[in-house]
This record gives sequence, structure tokens and C-alpha cells, in this order.
Amino acid sequence: MQLRNELVRVEADRTGTTIDNLKRAFLENLYYVQGKPPALATLNDYYMALAHTVRDRIMQRWNNSAITYTENQSRTVCYLSAEFLMGPHLGNNLINLGLYEPMKQAIDELGINFDELIEEEGEPGLGNGGLGRLAACYLDSLAALEIPTMGYGIRYEFGIFKQDIRDGWQVEITDKWLRNGNPWELARPEWTVSIPFGGHTESYRNSQGVYRARWVPAWEVKGVPYDTPTLGYKVNTANTLRLWKAEAPESFDFQAFNTGDYYGAVNAKVVSENITKVLYPNDDEIQGKVLRLQQQFFFVSCSLQDMIRIMKGQKIPMERFHEKFAVQLNDTHPAIAVAELMRLLVDQEFLGWDEAWAITQNTLAYTNHTLLPEALERWQIDLFRDLLPRHLEIIYEINQRFMDDVRVKFIDDDARLARMSLIDESGERYVRMANLACVGSHAINGVAALHSELLKQTVLKDFYEYSPEKFSNKTNGVTPRRFMVLSNPRLTQLITDRIGSGWITDLEQLRQLEQFIDDPAFCQQWRSIKQAIKQDLADSIQKDYGVDVSIDSIFDIQVKRIHEYKRQHLNLLHIITLYNRIKANPNIDITPRTFLFGGKAAPGYFMAKLMIKLVSAVSEVINRDPDVRGRIKVVFLKNYNVKFAQHVYPAADLSEQISTAGKEASGTGNMKFAMNGALTIGTLDGANVEIMEQAGEENFFLFGLTAEEVRERKARGYDPKAYYNANPNLQLVIDRIASGFFSHGDKTLFQPIVDNLMQSDPYLLFADYQSYVECQDRVAEAYRDQDKWTRMSILNAARMGMFSSDRSIQEYCDDIWNVKPVTVKETEGFCSATVCLL
Ligand SMILES: *Cc1c(COP(=O)(O)O)cnc(C)c1O
Repeated sequence: MQLRNELVRVEADRTGTTIDNLKRAFLENLYYVQGKPPALATLNDYYMALAHTVRDRIMQRWNNSAITYTENQSRTVCYLSAEFLMGPHLGNNLINLGLYEPMKQAIDELGINFDELIEEEGEPGLGNGGLGRLAACYLDSLAALEIPTMGYGIRYEFGIFKQDIRDGWQVEITDKWLRNGNPWELARPEWTVSIPFGGHTESYRNSQGVYRARWVPAWEVKGVPYDTPTLGYKVNTANTLRLWKAEAPESFDFQAFNTGDYYGAVNAKVVSENITKVLYPNDDEIQGKVLRLQQQFFFVSCSLQDMIRIMKGQKIPMERFHEKFAVQLNDTHPAIAVAELMRLLVDQEFLGWDEAWAITQNTLAYTNHTLLPEALERWQIDLFRDLLPRHLEIIYEINQRFMDDVRVKFIDDDARLARMSLIDESGERYVRMANLACVGSHAINGVAALHSELLKQTVLKDFYEYSPEKFSNKTNGVTPRRFMVLSNPRLTQLITDRIGSGWITDLEQLRQLEQFIDDPAFCQQWRSIKQAIKQDLADSIQKDYGVDVSIDSIFDIQVKRIHEYKRQHLNLLHIITLYNRIKANPNIDITPRTFLFGGKAAPGYFMAKLMIKLVSAVSEVINRDPDVRGRIKVVFLKNYNVKFAQHVYPAADLSEQISTAGKEASGTGNMKFAMNGALTIGTLDGANVEIMEQAGEENFFLFGLTAEEVRERKARGYDPKAYYNANPNLQLVIDRIASGFFSHGDKTLFQPIVDNLMQSDPYLLFADYQSYVECQDRVAEAYRDQDKWTRMSILNAARMGMFSSDRSIQEYCDDIWNVKPVTVKETEGFCSATVCLL
């Protein structure tokens, strides 16, 4: 009690929040943590001092959350994801603490440019794109809703590569995000776990004579947790993102060292640490590499063992695992959890199979993220057995019981059994991770209404027919704290001036903005804010690319991973169409546009990289052609990441969401654009469907085939050449690319794209081309009536309430996790337990 009272005084003394407190703390951290007097401090030193000043003010919430959850033995959500694309922490933490403005004032009063410090922070690029960013938005909402949560993932030493563009081509640069140290994480080596790999299994009789299995692994690595706090918005909740780093069991293999094999000893260390060395940079594609399976098992086993440690620390019997934890699998990357939880419960905790299976199913839930066949994970049996022999046995056992159940439910249906088996035996044998995830979970969800329907009709049809009660939809969402409050302070201020600040945690309140659409002053303010944000982006484009763009042009933006199904090249076909119109008639009256692209291509994805080159090539020709007279500009913005995204989404007039219908599971970029007042041009794909429903058809630019029509076309035998032959404009576009017009006369450079479209066009660009161009003409026309455009922009933002990740998370809490908020008080006593465990 005495210690507690002393600590309360220490906390108050050290983490005050008056401007004077903040200034003093900043200078102390500069001097005593960074070890620099102002005269020698670099921008990074200032950033680090500021980060520590903020971190100090998080600590009390973080510790109090841990105490509260431990004392209450709170039911906890564990979000397992191989990727967390968190973005920069500093600004976001200040927003959540409610300290953004005072801190800005304090730093500015010290004569240091606060905004520069915010920009100085790099980002932990521990994800590829939408899936990893979703995990980050969900952690934000879970904390905002005061839900006890652990995020579990991998602390990659190198995150997603940094993208440079040289001569129009993507060049990948390793992302050394830890180079300057990471002020936001704390290592917790005391909770290191051991992860076995390889070897063989044995059976033995225990003291009661019962047969048991034992895994005798060939090697092991250590998993060391690194914790980052995730704050709720203006509440005391601070949850934990726990990322695992692989380390060698001993820094040297002493045996080898003593026998003189020094190199071999060090090499063993290198091999262990390789497991968490690098993020696989593929989005929606698998490679089947053993290191990737090692990563998956590594972080899943670390996380499940950590949960068991917490159970034991809180003295909760293992039979209640599913009552203590709700574990969500973000795609199949952590699906090995089904077998690993069974192994831990049966082999290590000695539960019976049936009881362990009930616990496993009740604990786990699975989110599917893709309908693309090339993204469905499967592992070669031999590779799997070499790494995880005991898990293969467990999977065989699960499968045998499962097949027996299917056999009686769907009598005499061998084809169905073969499709549903956890083992693909149609040729070379594979473990099917989606099937494993479905069988081992009590809930399965897709990420948008259309996607969840298509799952039931296609990739998971058999599982739906077998257990329809497991299936539901949970449409994705994004956090309004990062993607409005932090990234769009001007719009935030305008909205708050009109309707108060309740919308920040209850986004449906944005609907109140509808009452102002006939208020000319409000519309004028809305419009001038958009123009000011466009000017900021224009300035940075001028600075970084030397290209002048006019803020009176439509900012027409497509930023997302580069992928054929996302159809960045369809966007290009439209751009070239406009260009051809100008060349045919240089005085044509066209609405000026600035086309902005951004996104990374997987390093091994040849077509995606060639698409980037084509954007660059087209931009070079168009930007310097005097006939264009600046009416069209095209810029490829390099190294698209969260930090840059925060500058881009608010600046858009038009959001390009043009994937082939039925291919994009949800999309979340579409939501970030729309809530910042961009209008969408899009297909009926993923969450676009719901965005249009919410915004109203009259406020959405819809084009293209539906998913149903795409399926029909393909079934009938789709012939892209027929479209080419029938459409002279399309013909001219393709011929221009093929002729070498955009490649200094080189006819071969873009031939792979041309051939792919002419011969198969798997993503039906040609089928959607005419509809897309006509729709773009409607966009151009609509933009000419600025008052009408502004009203549409306001209505879009006002009606995006359902796309807050708070809504998504509330649905997961109610329908899947059955978990309730736990309020953390501002001050807490010490833990009565011997150790605080969360
Ligand atoms: C939102 C986001 C994505 C996902 O974009 P989509 O358009 O939904 O594919 C990818 N990368 C970053 C950095 C994002 O912020």
C-alpha cells in the first residue's frame, strides 16, 4: 500500500500534462534518454525525445489495464495475424490520449517544428496491404470499445520493402525499420517461450497405462515477445500488440564450439533468427516456402503458449480455455492453431481428445479474406511432415473423425468427401489450410456482404452446406481516428464545429451533416478544405517529382497493391482514351484531371511490375506533350504506405475501385476515400456494393459487369478479341501501346500486357472498357457543376457511418466472441496476484 501511494506520486510528478510539464519532460528525455544537448540534437533525437514523452504518458493506462484484466480474469480477444500494418504511432497515440494540441503547443513553444517531428517517424511496415491494415484498425477499435485484447503476430526485422522507381521500374529496398531503435515497444524476455521443429513422434504409456503421443523435435528456437501498447480513444484502455522475435536457444552451440566448429555454432544461431527476418511481400498469393510455414507455426505456438501461461498465472483451469480466450484467425496464415491448440491441450496438458476438440472449436474463429484460388493456402505433405510431424498426425486424426461425420451426413458422396478432406489427394498431396480452419472453428466469416455470399456459393460451399450456422458476414471497417481525425484535421474541425465530436466514436452521427447540404457557407467551407488539402498534396508532388498539378483538376486516385484483378491497367486504358481524344482534336473541351497511382508490386509478380512501368511510360508521354496543355497529368507516387496514405485519401475527388466484380473481398481503401469526401467510381465488388447502398446510387459512379455476369461470360467462353474488333476506341488504345508509342518505339516492352489482354484477358478489362469510359465521362460532366459535386461529396462522407471499424468490431464482439467491455479506471491498486500477466 505504501509502495502504491508512492507510485501514484511518482506518476503524477513525471507524467503531468500541462504545457510546462510537457516541455520539461521533452527536454529531460532529450537529455537523459537520447543523451543529447539541444546543440547536438538531430531531428531524430527530437522525435525520439517526443516519442518517449508520449510513451511515459501511456504507461499508467497500460499498467492499469494489465492490472484490471488480471484481477478480473477478463475474457480476452486474441487477434492472431501474420501482419499488422500499424502505421506511425506518435500522432495516433497523441490523438487517443487527447494530448495532440497541448503537445503541439509545448513543442512549438520550444521553437521546434512539431509537424516536422510527426513527419520524421518512419513506420513499422509489418504487413502487405489491406489485410494487415485491417488488423491494425481492429486493434484500434477494440481498445476504443474497451475490449480486453491481445494482438499476436510476428516482429519481422525487415517489413515490406521500400519501393523506389528508377527509369519507371519498381526497385525494392530493404526496410530497416529498427535502425534508429523503436521507442514504442518493450521487450519482455521473461516471457520467452520455446518452439520445437522437426524430428519425429513416439507413443508411450503413462502411469495409468493410457497411450499418449510424444513429439521428439530435432531443433527448437526461442520466441521473445515485444509489446506495443494500443490505446483506446480517450479511455484508459491500453491493450497490447505482442509480436514475437525468433532467437537461437543459446547464443552458441557449446558442443559445436568445443569441438571446434565455431562457424557451425554461429550458423545455427543465424538459421534460428532467420524465421522472423523478413515479411513475405506477396499480397493475395502464396509461394509454399518452408520458411513461411516456419513463421506461421512459430508465431501461433508462441501465442498459444503465452495464453496457457496467462491461464496458469491466473489459476484458471485449462478446461476453461475457451471461456478465457476468443481467438480470431486473420485468414489462414494462423490456421495451424487448430492443430497446435489440440497438441498443447492433449499432449502437454493431458486433456482427452474430445474435450480438447470442443475447447479448440469453441475458442477459434476464422475470417476468410479471398476468393482467388492462387491465394488459398496449402502445404505439401512432405514439407509439412518434415517440419511438424506431430501436427500432421493430429490433422489426420481430425480428418478421419471429420470424414466419418460428413460420410453419414451426405451419404454416398465421395466427390464431396474428397473436396472437404483436410488433405488434397487429387495429385501431389497437400494440407488444405482453409479446410483446417473451417473444421476447427465455431465461426467463419467473410469481409463484405457480397464476399460472404460468394464464399457460401463457391470456395466454402461444401462447408456451408455442412454447417451453415457457422457462417456470417462481418463487413470490414476502418478507424475514423487515424483516417479522419489524425489525417484530416481540417475536415475534423469543420465537422466538429457543426455536430460536436460524438461522431469520432459513433460514426453514424455523421448523418447529421446532411442537414447542411443546402447551407452555402458550409458547402463553401467543405470545398475550400478539399482544395487546401489538394494543394498540400500538389506541393509535395512538385517537390518530389517536379510535376505541376492543378488543384482545379479532378484528383483521380488509385492507390492500392498492384494486381491484375485490381485493374490499374483499366484505369490506364481510360487515360490513353482521353489522350487519344486530345490528339485527334487538340481543342477538345475536357475536364482537367490529375491521375495519381500508388502501390507496391510483389517482387516476383512480373505483370504487376510491368503495369507500374506502363503507368510511368504513359505519364512521361502525356505530361510533356504540348497538345495536352496540362489538362491531364499522370503521376506514379512511389512507396505507398500508411504514412503516405494519410496524406492521399483526404486529397481525392475520385476514388478508383475498379476490380473485376467477384474478385475483391472487401477493400478498405474505398471506405477511407469515401469518408473523406471522395466520390467513388467502382464496380459492384466487395464493400463497394454496401458503399453505394449507403451513399445512394445517385452519389456513386457505377459501371461494369456484376459478379454474376462475369461468371456467365466466362462460362460462355469469353473472347476479348470480339470487344477489340467491335470498338475502334479500344482498338486505338491497344494499338498505341503495342506500337511502341509509349516505349520509345519498342514494340516488345509492353507486349506481355497486350498479349495477355488480347488472348485471354482473365480480368475482363475489355468487357468493362466501354462501360468504364462512359462512366468516366459522367464523372467529368458532374465535376463541372461544383455545387452539385460538393453536395455529393458531403453526402458520401455523411453516410459512411457503417464503415467505422467500431461497427465491425461490435459485431464480432456480439456474434462471434461473446465478449463485453471492461472499464479501466484512471488509477488502480497493485495486483493482488503475484505477477501481472497481461
Ligand atoms: C487501406 C490500405 C490498403 C488497402 O487498400 P485497398 O484499396 O482496400 O486495397 C493498402 N495499403 C495501405 C497502406 C492502406 O492504408
